[in-house]
Amino acid sequence: MAHPQSRKARRAEDDSDGNAAMKTFLQRLAAHRPVAGKRTWVFVAYDQLTDRLGPLSRLDPRKAGIVVVESMQKGRRRSYCQHKLAFVLANLRHFCLEQAQRGVAVRHVATEGGYEGPLREVASEVGPLRAMEFAERELREELAPLVRDGLLVVESHEGWLTTRAQFDESHPDGPPYRMDRFYRHVRKATGVLMEGGKFAGGKLSFDAENRKRWNGEPAAPEVPTFARDEVTDEVVAFVRSAFADHPGAIDEDRLPCTQLHADAMWDWARRECLPQFGPYQDAMSTKSASLFHTRLSPLLNVMRVLPRDVVDGACASKLPIASKEGFVRQVLGWREFVRHVHAATDGFRSVTKGRDDLGQATPSFLGARRALPPAWWGEKSGLACLDRCVEDVWRDGYGHHISRLMVLANFAALLDVSPRELTDWFWCAYADAYDWVVEPNVLGMGTFAVGDLMTTKPYIAGASYVDSMSDYCKGCAFDPKTTCPVRSLYWAFLQRHEAKLKDNQRLAIPLQSMRKRTDAQREDDIATFERVSKALARGESLAPDASAGAESGSPRRGGGKPKKR
Ligand SMILES: Cc1cc2nc3c(=O)[nH]c(=O)nc-3n(C[C@H](O)[C@H](O)[C@H](O)COP(=O)(O)OP(=O)(O)OC[C@H]3O[C@@H](n4cnc5c(N)ncnc54)[C@H](O)[C@@H]3O)c2cc1C
Repeated sequence: MAHPQSRKARRAEDDSDGNAAMKTFLQRLAAHRPVAGKRTWVFVAYDQLTDRLGPLSRLDPRKAGIVVVESMQKGRRRSYCQHKLAFVLANLRHFCLEQAQRGVAVRHVATEGGYEGPLREVASEVGPLRAMEFAERELREELAPLVRDGLLVVESHEGWLTTRAQFDESHPDGPPYRMDRFYRHVRKATGVLMEGGKFAGGKLSFDAENRKRWNGEPAAPEVPTFARDEVTDEVVAFVRSAFADHPGAIDEDRLPCTQLHADAMWDWARRECLPQFGPYQDAMSTKSASLFHTRLSPLLNVMRVLPRDVVDGACASKLPIASKEGFVRQVLGWREFVRHVHAATDGFRSVTKGRDDLGQATPSFLGARRALPPAWWGEKSGLACLDRCVEDVWRDGYGHHISRLMVLANFAALLDVSPRELTDWFWCAYADAYDWVVEPNVLGMGTFAVGDLMTTKPYIAGASYVDSMSDYCKGCAFDPKTTCPVRSLYWAFLQRHEAKLKDNQRLAIPLQSMRKRTDAQREDDIATFERVSKALARGESLAPDASAGAESGSPRRGGGKPKKR
């Protein structure tokens, strides 16, 4: 499918007639006539859509110009879900219009190719471009030749809250990397939630108090919707046609696309979500995919909402300390930590030899190599929890942390799915996925693919965890206490990987329990693992086997139509 603009990159201001895919956008952009005169040009990457950071924040708008590139090559690099493509593109175009409105000159380039060619062309015309360091390793690598040739002058990325030096200080002996060690260090170094040199509330983390099940009260907030305009409509139509073969849907009403939308989203999060954020952080429900989670990650990751603002806002609020700290730990702690681990390991290339066709690291500490079952792409598995989380994510590219960790990654780990394949699935499926954040979360936290490099143990759990933290099991054909195959999958995982995990102190009790299972139970666990793996690999839906009694999970043919891929 050709890009709506020609194969040759074209500048928006040259394109007065435009075309159907961006006609309104180009007309609106052309309506702003920047004053003539010399300008300093800044390349704004797709995930740096702010004028409050970096060189753009320091330039007089009448003396600044931005270069923004829409690259089909980037969009097609992997099967990014349609919601993410629409989100990024709509924000990018609205950002151009917002900057033009301020008097900034805008060069909007649409290209079939990548970023380097168009930027080299513009830089040779207007002189070296300035930019903030790119968060994505992929973009850093692609643009390294321009930096080397002096055509791109890169400054540090001011959107991060911590420095590499602080990360290194928190781990003077290098790996293994631990979030709590890093978090402790940066709380002290930044002074965030510190009172008189001590942690506010008397302790570093209130995590242990944040594990309530949600039974419908307090009511979960309604997720905001946003009025669409013609620019967004154009983007949605374009993505649906040019990326028709990409998975997922576009929830057009839930696309925050402008700076006003982003501000409204943060207001909503602060008002409606944060007061209950802590206690229900681990809960999952069929009634709400986000419960009291903020849904801010897509906006934070493209800088429409600034991390410093949400941390400052949460700290200045009158929230209970458990909610305040719980939220700050996510943004100042986890978000910064994973990004440092990604950079320190060169996207895990420094800790593993394996590479895939795209040059990505393919670690698998446990030797998991199986293909990701079609259930993750939308085929029904018969497990209500899995099917629900999959359905949720393909609707709008969102799921909260526990559905990602304890259902989607956990089940894939229990089935020995290739961590790389699972990572690429997460990267395609979620609107907030970028290499620096998705790779550590899936390869490190979700699958233990890099061993204890950044987590102390694999985050695996059986049916009772899902039952205790959600209402999913109520609507399931399986009984979590008797027939659910996830029980056996959990024990079978520990059996298969006992040799590699036997020295892990945090798994000592589960391993001991596994060893106490009778021979018959242990054989049945392995048989269930094989049966379920094969059935799901064939795209079959599981059903309780009345004759088999406990821990069944027999396949049933015809689980529904596969998602387009
Ligand atoms: C297997 C797996 C894959 C993940 N993939 C991504 C991803 O591709 N992109 C992404 O942004 N997050 C990812 N996460 C982290 C986390 O799940 C999401 O950031 C969070 O669910 C986003 O929803 P929210 O904005 O409602 O978060 P909230 O619960 O409201 O948290 C607030 C913010 O904290 C930050 N945060 C919390 N935990 C993490 C974390 N572990 N890593 C980075 N930031 C964090 C996010 O910016 C988030 O918006 C992943 C986690 C797991 C377990």
